[in-house]
Amino acid sequence: MAANAAAAGEILRAMTQPIRVRMAPSPTGDLHVGNARTALCNYLMARGLGGTFILRVEDTDAQRSDASHEEGIYEGLRWLGLDWDEGPNVGGPFGPYRQSERQDIYREAVQQLLANERAYYDYTTADERAAEREQQRAEGRPPRYSGLGRRFSAAEIAERKSAGVIPAVRFRSEPSPVQFDDIVLGNIRVGPDEVDDFVIARGDGSALYNMAVVVDDEHMRISHVIRGKDHVSNTFRQVLLYEALGWTPPAFAHLPLVVNRRRQKFSSRDGAQWVGEYRTQGYLPEALVNFLVFLGWAPGDEREIFSLDELVQEFRLERVNRADAVFDPQRLDHFNGVWIRRLDLQELAERAWPYATAGGLDLSSDQRPYFTAALELEYERLSHLNRTAELMDFFFDDDLDPDMGQVRFRRHSAAETATALERVAALVDATEPFDDPTLEAAMRALAADLNWRAGDLFMPVRIAVTGRRATPPLFATMEVLGRQRCRDRLRRALVSLAKLAAA
Ligand code: GLU
Repeated sequence: MAANAAAAGEILRAMTQPIRVRMAPSPTGDLHVGNARTALCNYLMARGLGGTFILRVEDTDAQRSDASHEEGIYEGLRWLGLDWDEGPNVGGPFGPYRQSERQDIYREAVQQLLANERAYYDYTTADERAAEREQQRAEGRPPRYSGLGRRFSAAEIAERKSAGVIPAVRFRSEPSPVQFDDIVLGNIRVGPDEVDDFVIARGDGSALYNMAVVVDDEHMRISHVIRGKDHVSNTFRQVLLYEALGWTPPAFAHLPLVVNRRRQKFSSRDGAQWVGEYRTQGYLPEALVNFLVFLGWAPGDEREIFSLDELVQEFRLERVNRADAVFDPQRLDHFNGVWIRRLDLQELAERAWPYATAGGLDLSSDQRPYFTAALELEYERLSHLNRTAELMDFFFDDDLDPDMGQVRFRRHSAAETATALERVAALVDATEPFDDPTLEAAMRALAADLNWRAGDLFMPVRIAVTGRRATPPLFATMEVLGRQRCRDRLRRALVSLAKLAAA
């Protein structure tokens, strides 16, 4: 780590051009949590060093790309608070920012490589390449394209052309090692035979991923490419393309792999994959940001709660770890609880309201103060915003008909409980003011007068006014419910008790 950081510091110091970083999602799905982490690190790097954060949509795979996913990605980023400076919908000096609109720019670079003989048209057929892999496997060698297409004579090529074979454009790899300095991983290299003649463009001249990325990162003056470690094998290819095109590569930083607690690649079995799902599940964006940054980064001390603004100050690319990052859902839940309790009540009400209505509570805007007062009582119990409706529905159910069978009648029968609740009802009518301390004092006095343990009285009252055994503190709840609701519910509870007593 120390040597790593020193090397990284050197790489960073050597940079003289402005900081320009990018997030380059493929719109084949909405915002994935892995991409959200990448976006976050790029964002923090840009904001922390006064740089520019660019969003580039990598939609060269037309079949798998979808405009609705592009919108989903924007929405996810906005929800997390990661705003970008240049991109498809905001423009900028190096646009267009959608790869599907940049094919002419790529074509030029492909032509340059063909002209310099750093690339060639490959007229092999899919069957030939499959046969080659088959043979390599049979010989116990790893399957790898051998450069077969380089060796065709002019006559062979002419024959294939007339047979209608559509060529791909392949990069001509040299048999030499490839290496680069990575801010996180240090110097990494592969042996001379690792990188094969990879395809850079289709037969129609349209560029594929590695080619498009290199051209874009160069043209958009990207200073640092920060992305997941799963891209390292691409980076070796990209380094070769930079060199062949006569360009200086940007600095690279590959973020650690995200794994589950069994050290396997994080997958849908381990947790939701899409940022939108976390939102639906009632996580706060603050909690998700706080959680995502720790997938690879740590401040170097015990602190663990950071707002996005604080992270802008604290985050250093040099402090990103090499070790795989373990996705621990319990930690995310912990952060969510912390962040929910950090919100002030009005803000929490603002955020919880849409979850409450989505969860089935029929709320009208004039109920906002009542909703907020009830929510205050649930502060401690609310672990996820999507639990709002389930925790609070009894506040809003005007037909609530409590099932008094939930009282266990251990020390006092249903009939005795009914007599006691008659007195509670009288007290609810008379107590003035109708607030938490006054209700508590009155109810304790009543228990003493009845010669009941306080708890033996409070539980049936609780069930009567809320319909459940577990609730926020009883008298505060009664205060929020108000006199009329308590009255109505006690009346229905007495009917329920009468039935139980008669049974
Ligand atoms: N489009 C790539 C992806 O979604 C990102 C490529 C890159 O960051 O260079 O994984």
